[in-house]
Amino acid sequence: MSALAEDPRAVAAAAYLISAKASASGKDWPAPAVEGVLRAAIGAGGASVEDLLASGFAVATDPTAAAPSTIRRRARPTAPAGPAEPRCATCGRPETACRAANAKVPTNASHSFINAERGSR
Ligand SMILES: [Zn+2]
Repeated sequence: MSALAEDPRAVAAAAYLISAKASASGKDWPAPAVEGVLRAAIGAGGASVEDLLASGFAVATDPTAAAPSTIRRRARPTAPAGPAEPRCATCGRPETACRAANAKVPTNASHSFINAERGSR
């Protein structure tokens, strides 16, 4: 849990922003009601203000979400990083970085991505 998650002002601010976002989508989600949902989710553990703000924004603009309580159901603890990207056997960069770097240099200075684990292109 981050320090921000323990700051009641951050929770109130997140609730206000989510309430305003919902209001812009034609929903009547008073900030105190949203704040109650956020506090409950934080109290239950796992959810951070950042997670709740992200899910709150998504839910606030989702026409199928009728009540602020959907924020809690959709909030997920920060997902662990996915499987690591394969690294390039030539430059050692992750695949995305290798391809991006190669796109910036002349062809005679670039190399093809070679998966270091599989030895394939
Ligand atoms: Zn490379």
